[in-house]
Amino acid sequence: MEASIIRELETAVAAGRATTDPATLALYSYDAAAETRWPEMLLWPGNEEEVSAILRTASRERVPVYARGAATGRAGGATPDLGGIVLSFEKMDRIVEIDAANRQAVVEPGVRTGALKKAVALHGLFYPPDPASSDFTTIGGNIATGAGGLACLKYGTTKDYVQQLRVVLADGEVTTFGSKAQKSVTGYDLVHLLVGSEGTLGVIVQARLRLLPAPEKRATLLAEFGSVETAVEAVLRILAHPHVPCGLEFADRGTIECARRHAGADVTEGCAAVILLQADTAEAEADVRAFGRICAAAGSTRVLYSADPEEQEALWAVRRAFSPATQKAAKVKVSEDIGVPAARLRETLAGIYDIGRRHDRRILCYGHAGDGNIHVNILTDRRDDPAIPATVEELFRMVLGMGGTISGEHGIGSLKAPYIGLEIGPRELELMRRVKEVFDPHGILNPGKIFGTASRGHSGPSSR
Ligand SMILES: Cc1cc2nc3c(=O)[nH]c(=O)nc-3n(C[C@H](O)[C@H](O)[C@H](O)COP(=O)(O)OP(=O)(O)OC[C@H]3O[C@@H](n4cnc5c(N)ncnc54)[C@H](O)[C@@H]3O)c2cc1C
Repeated sequence: MEASIIRELETAVAAGRATTDPATLALYSYDAAAETRWPEMLLWPGNEEEVSAILRTASRERVPVYARGAATGRAGGATPDLGGIVLSFEKMDRIVEIDAANRQAVVEPGVRTGALKKAVALHGLFYPPDPASSDFTTIGGNIATGAGGLACLKYGTTKDYVQQLRVVLADGEVTTFGSKAQKSVTGYDLVHLLVGSEGTLGVIVQARLRLLPAPEKRATLLAEFGSVETAVEAVLRILAHPHVPCGLEFADRGTIECARRHAGADVTEGCAAVILLQADTAEAEADVRAFGRICAAAGSTRVLYSADPEEQEALWAVRRAFSPATQKAAKVKVSEDIGVPAARLRETLAGIYDIGRRHDRRILCYGHAGDGNIHVNILTDRRDDPAIPATVEELFRMVLGMGGTISGEHGIGSLKAPYIGLEIGPRELELMRRVKEVFDPHGILNPGKIFGTASRGHSGPSSR
């Protein structure tokens, strides 16, 4: 980037909110996918006017702009593949309004999801989206990735709670998509086009989110099983029950071992699988007891219940520890987040372990079993392990053969860009590219993501 452009961008933000200091840039060169690429400049805008000024310059000078929330993304979505600017939303972290009468909250993109959940709870309200990373992750990142999490089975994903967005377009113009009204079908649904667009169509500077009344009661169940098959059988029987738990989580033996070793999880040694669920109706305790009987009938070896808030938090802390605990199991953890129709979970999990055996790589699985969304963690000792691309490709082809998807909630970013054509047909992909061109004619917003022109991920499938 030329020095004159850097000087102009420095004046777009408040003093001290721009840097080209290499040590600081290094900290913003990766996300949770751990692929590294340095930006040339880092900016911390404080309001939408500053974001607009930055994008006007970036658009005129064709400088790549990478929006960044908390960088917990697992697909390399916030990694500055082509250098340019990283636009960090750490300073735009205000909860602007909690409108209890209309059950809505207006927030800046840098608000932490967990902080919003706590703030609305003080008003007797509930923001259901709950990625396992919610203590760190931002609303802007959640919207841009269409984040899922621990409560999707009953409450859906982030997209179901986004009502209106303030967006800075690639040329710097600020616009609003959606309405304050609870329902609106006026024109195309651009709000939900932006959800999951991974920073490639516009920069989100404010969001109006839907809220629900806080649940009356909560109760949690943890059930242990002697095999993955019996745990999946319990999942399927619970899904057939007329009452829906908020979330229905699964972990296999390898994941449990890591959680026991690194997070002190109170799970019986040698246990082959666990499921964890929460009910949050007025009959929550009765519901988890009913689910517990289902687990026992399916072959559970131990069922724990709790209606005590602290005990429940401890059980869910174990779930939140799965990701960091499995990270410690090997030098490199390649995390995929495939989704299948839940009815095909049994054969999907069997297929995953079979792929691991054939490629001689250890695979640990956990995730949102009730949604059919499993995090597949391939362990290896080197980032350039030649076995990984073939293992990932085989996994994706198997999952697609089950009617599934290569990403249930993490997005495509740059890591999965080489594989998008396995799932999305040429015509659909062409429509997506044209949408991208309409929003971002000069390709400055997160270049390299989704379509992969600058992808640095796995080498990609051997054939399409
Ligand atoms: C331990 C752990 C657990 C996780 N659990 C879950 C889970 O349960 N469910 C789930 O869905 N994900 C999960 N994730 C993945 C990750 O937390 C989500 O993808 C999350 O939504 C990313 O938010 P972020 O603020 O970290 O965004 P970042 O990683 O910073 O960015 C993600 C994407 O959003 C774009 N972006 C960020 N802010 C904006 C903005 N203001 N405007 C436009 N684009 C923007 C970025 O450019 C990038 O493409 C987990 C990750 C970790 C490390």
